[in-house]
Amino acid sequence: MNFIETRGNDNNRAQEVTFSEAILNPSASFGGLYVPKDLPELEDNFILNHLNSSYKELAYDILKAFEIDIDEDEINKALDLYDKFDDPTNPCPVVKVKDDLFVHEQYHGPTRAFKDMALQPFGSILSSIAKKKNEKYLILAATSGDTGPAALNTFKNKENIQVVCLYPDGGTSDVQRLQMVCEDGENLKVIGIKGNFDDAQTALKNLLASESFKKELENDGIKLSAANSVNFGRIIFQIIYHFWSYIQLLKQEEIKNGEKIYLVVPSGNFGNVLGGFYAQQMGVPVEKLLVASNENDILTQWINTGIYDIRDKELKLTKSPAMDILKSSNIERVIFSICGAQRTKQLMEDLNNNKIFKMNEEETEKLQKYFSAINSDDKYGAQIIKEFLDLKYLMDPHTATCIKAYQNLKEKDLKVVIYSTAEWTKFSPTVLQALHENSISHPDKEALDIISKEYNAKLPESIKGLFSSEIRHKVIVEKENIEEEIVKFIRD
Ligand SMILES: *Cc1c(COP(=O)(O)O)cnc(C)c1O
Repeated sequence: MNFIETRGNDNNRAQEVTFSEAILNPSASFGGLYVPKDLPELEDNFILNHLNSSYKELAYDILKAFEIDIDEDEINKALDLYDKFDDPTNPCPVVKVKDDLFVHEQYHGPTRAFKDMALQPFGSILSSIAKKKNEKYLILAATSGDTGPAALNTFKNKENIQVVCLYPDGGTSDVQRLQMVCEDGENLKVIGIKGNFDDAQTALKNLLASESFKKELENDGIKLSAANSVNFGRIIFQIIYHFWSYIQLLKQEEIKNGEKIYLVVPSGNFGNVLGGFYAQQMGVPVEKLLVASNENDILTQWINTGIYDIRDKELKLTKSPAMDILKSSNIERVIFSICGAQRTKQLMEDLNNNKIFKMNEEETEKLQKYFSAINSDDKYGAQIIKEFLDLKYLMDPHTATCIKAYQNLKEKDLKVVIYSTAEWTKFSPTVLQALHENSISHPDKEALDIISKEYNAKLPESIKGLFSSEIRHKVIVEKENIEEEIVKFIRD
């Protein structure tokens, strides 16, 4: 299957590209994104036929339906990376919490957040394409804490790929920082920046736009690519697990085949919930996709009004930092699906030029047919974390935002699956403060120990081991010196 562009074609680029082209060079005409030309039609009873499939088998059949231009062996090799998860046959278990409420745990991979679900196989696929084309790629990543560790883990020692990861020094949790600075691998470079996440991201954008930097890379025979969630190579792996949610509820005999369910997704860049939207289009019986946000309520406003207005908005730093967002990239793919390329281009240009776009009534109605949204604040999140411990469920602050949607947006008496995007171990100081009701803040190591003892919660080896690991990346630089540092790494 080929891929087309959300903002239409500029007659300079190819009208359509293959999957491997779309993931190597993810930016499309007019700054748009690549989307599948059509979503695949699955066989009748696809879901019933996969009741007893392993996750890998399900994933394989969905990827096959997309007819991607990747060799079978390479697909299998990529899917074998789910062996690194706690339970390879069930990498993302769906757990019943109460009557109608289920948690889809997406954090059982090597870096304990949902990013592993897609980045693990994606890293393998990207490296295999680069190798086949005999090209070298540099992946630049700016992270607020979850993408960085997941990208480093998946690309370490992969052929034809080098990774530079920029993180704001002091702006991540200790666990997140250690996951990055302790990662070994000849092809990895981790750089702390004196500044916040925005500074890291801006530095990255400037580099991507810099002709002199690209020249430097070209001289060394290196091309640039991106591993962020605008890359469809990540999105494709994020469709699969929404099928899994449904199949798990069927297997647990919580629903009958065809019965609709709600999916609640804590959202930032809209990649996770976009996968759910595509899964719904491909036949998963989803009543509605419920989008949860934190105090950065832009997604809630957009879905409730059709207006995306960031003229007077400032990014707020919250206890669910992976959802702190103003410009959410993947909404563009939903808009394309609802409004088509011409209109998408117009709306996205409005946003770029005027920091606002307005969908019309008809478009907004369509949007609301698929999505509802609600946001909550840190105080609410803390209450929820505490409340759910009484139900013997320990959740992280991102997951907690889903409960607001569960309590307020459910219109029909149907089962609800909320997505747990991070393990509590990644945000233990916040979780402990919630459980101890505003006690002083403990550093990660103490908070992890206290919670695991007091609440008998399990610590995975990958987290325990971090605090005694060797720190391999010690560089912290001023913003001005990032480029120099990267060039030095490439020349080494
Ligand atoms: C990345 C992330 C999110 C947001 O996912 P999007 O696909 O960007 O919407 C939510 N929670 C956690 C813990 C994450 O790491």
